[in-house]
Amino acid sequence: MERTFAMIKPDGVRRGLTPEILARIHNKGYRVVGLKQMMMPRETAEQHYGEHRERPFFGELVDFITGGPVVAIALEGENAIAGWRAMMGATNPANAAPGTIRADFATSTGENVTHGSDSPESAERELALFFGDGELL
Ligand code: ATP
Ligand code: MG
Repeated sequence: MERTFAMIKPDGVRRGLTPEILARIHNKGYRVVGLKQMMMPRETAEQHYGEHRERPFFGELVDFITGGPVVAIALEGENAIAGWRAMMGATNPANAAPGTIRADFATSTGENVTHGSDSPESAERELALFFGDGELL
């Protein structure tokens, strides 16, 4: 069984989308093995998005992601990494397929409601960044 790191970003939390997104996860059949609402420390955000450090939007991205509470979620399920990415849809909501979270709830690339790990290596790294030993089911 595969595990992935999912997150509801500050725009999604602020807009009250947490229950809707958790319902989609539940209905899909994924098991939530970890869940916390938290303020992301700046250092964690810089590590989490480290691959984008040199991109022009990096500062804006870190400011946004640390600007309000996020909901960190550890998901377990068959093919959960790719499956959760498919449920989110494309990074730019304008390109996201109908019925995906980003198509249904987001209008901009910068504030696109959710995050999902993009590979097994990212999933392992990101789960360890947000959840300590013994915190996950
Ligand atoms: P995430 O990593 O948040 O799940 P993603 O994997 O679909 O999203 P990435 O390419 O990893 O997309 O970009 C990370 C995040 O950085 C995006 O979700 C978006 O919020 C922001 N971002 C990416 N590209 C841009 C851009 N051109 N302008 C502004 N923000 C951007
Ligand atoms: Mg990404």
